[in-house]
Amino acid sequence: MRAAVLTGLGQVEVQDRPEPEVRPDWVIVDVEAMSVCGTDVHQLEGRIETPFPRVPGHDFAGRVAEVGEGVDPSLVGTPVAVKPSLPCMDCPVCAEKNFDECPKKKLMGLWSDGCMTERVAVPAINLVPRPEDVPAWQACLLEPLAVGLNTIDRLNIRLGDTVLVLGQGPIGLCMARLAALSGAGKLIVTDARDEVFEISRAWGATHTINVREQDLVETVSELTDGLLADVVIETSGYPDSAGAVLDVLRKKGKLAMVGFAKDLPPLPIIPMLMKTLTLYAVGGNGGFGQYERALELLHTGRVQLDKLVTHRFALEDVAEALDTGLHRKDGAIKIILSPTGEF
Ligand SMILES: [Zn+2]
Ligand SMILES: [Zn+2]
Repeated sequence: MRAAVLTGLGQVEVQDRPEPEVRPDWVIVDVEAMSVCGTDVHQLEGRIETPFPRVPGHDFAGRVAEVGEGVDPSLVGTPVAVKPSLPCMDCPVCAEKNFDECPKKKLMGLWSDGCMTERVAVPAINLVPRPEDVPAWQACLLEPLAVGLNTIDRLNIRLGDTVLVLGQGPIGLCMARLAALSGAGKLIVTDARDEVFEISRAWGATHTINVREQDLVETVSELTDGLLADVVIETSGYPDSAGAVLDVLRKKGKLAMVGFAKDLPPLPIIPMLMKTLTLYAVGGNGGFGQYERALELLHTGRVQLDKLVTHRFALEDVAEALDTGLHRKDGAIKIILSPTGEF
């Protein structure tokens, strides 16, 4: 079968690879659609260390092709989305079925070969069956929505709260949509490019701030009559944005830190004490009910992810797909691929 393989820094090629083998409690999934995530492009450029050669990718959807011993055979043919982190199944935490908290949990595409191929083996517990009318190209975009749910769940947004979302990448956009659904009053979003605000507004943002052109703290202060935001969600991972969170959060406000990069500034403890704030540090998608509920939001049409998809490629053109993501070419937001290029 054909597979995208990262062979070294900045190098990706499509190779013939052996078919995956089914084992007890695992299944083989025919991949129908996959999306490019920040992790994949960071692996390519070296911001995330990867043991080469490696098949990248972890955000995908498809159909069960084959089941191993111990798995219900009627699953064959079922359309599915797939949770991307593989629990070890062998530690005390996994024995308690708290798979999400497994300390040895590993991300597909990084620690083991991933989904940018035609068929892939995954544990049956990672499957999230999807209705036929949620197409694979939408279900391969569940991760940012699951990260959004894992964050918004904790924040208990009250109807009418002023919510500020810093960064409008796929995760920031999903966060804005979910904050709007949760009853945000003023919903202010920031980014360094204007194009993306069209989606932000369609998804419920009431105010947009281009941080290249407007002063963040001044503008938030003006928009809130000096009260600042009840809830601040930092998704950009940029040092300037992460360094400003306390200046835009009202006293006793709630702060969620989600964006991730190696060069983030340390959080200043004393100013945090003075704010008497509540901090939620959110590392990932939860993987425990969030995928299922994200799918429900798609199925009911409360969230429509089509606006996120700016580029579509066939697996054979993976080099161009990753390059488009890496350099955010042509207003790239989400890039999806399929084995044939059809969706
Ligand atoms: Zn991802
Ligand atoms: Zn474990």
